[in-house]
Amino acid sequence: NCDREAILTARGLTKVFRGFTAVNNVDLTVRSGSIHALIGPNGAGKTTCFNLLTRFLVPTRGMIHFRGTDISRSSPADIARMGLVRSFQISSTFPHLSVLENVRIALQRPNGLATQFWRPQSSLDRLNERAMELLSSVGLESFRDQAASVLSYGRKRALELATTLALDPELLLLDEPMAGMAREDIHQIAHLIRKVAEGRTIVMVEHNLSVVADLCDRVTVLQRGEVLAEGRYEEISQDPRVREAYMGS
Ligand code: ADP
Repeated sequence: NCDREAILTARGLTKVFRGFTAVNNVDLTVRSGSIHALIGPNGAGKTTCFNLLTRFLVPTRGMIHFRGTDISRSSPADIARMGLVRSFQISSTFPHLSVLENVRIALQRPNGLATQFWRPQSSLDRLNERAMELLSSVGLESFRDQAASVLSYGRKRALELATTLALDPELLLLDEPMAGMAREDIHQIAHLIRKVAEGRTIVMVEHNLSVVADLCDRVTVLQRGEVLAEGRYEEISQDPRVREAYMGS
């Protein structure tokens, strides 16, 4: 995996909030096709990094390249159009609409896949067909007619994932996909993420270290806004500084 080309690189990424440096000189290299975790204690700067990578926040300093293009000055919408999409960006599901309806709407968003096949003469069938493909990819095909609001928590997250996939992202940023999950759901979502990762790159912030160990090819550990360690989980979990800072042992 290590010699695959970099799809996303950040160099010297820095964010200063009114004198407080939340992200300090971070270098990040994400390889194409990998699942890359960003971990670290609360306040380490993980969310700020995500916000910088998608340009929801303007970096104070630093460069970000996505597929060889400098995106440090691009808008979040442009970045999404290029294929770098963040989960919550479009994860606002409509609770009273059906599961199928939610995915159809996602497909018809400005960057949605429907824009690739939508023509006046092409019928709604194509849209429905694509929506059903997405639903089956996340295991929700039998829930198509249920209101999104009555789904279990885990299935709601699966629906969010389906609406995100409607943008056909090349690189997907997932912010704590396991947050609030019951153990059974964690297995289900982990399975899903692995499936979704086929042909894509994923960067995820995740607190559950067994999920990280299980799913992620590479791990970057942040502490107080800086990169403390980077490597495979087996490597970084043996690093005494990581153990001390993050795992408390
Ligand atoms: P994490 O996601 O790792 O928990 P964050 O990126 O949310 O960490 O926060 C990193 C640090 O930056 C924290 O100390 C936080 O209080 C601070 N911070 C985050 N956003 C802002 C902001 N908009 N203004 C000032 N400080 C902020």
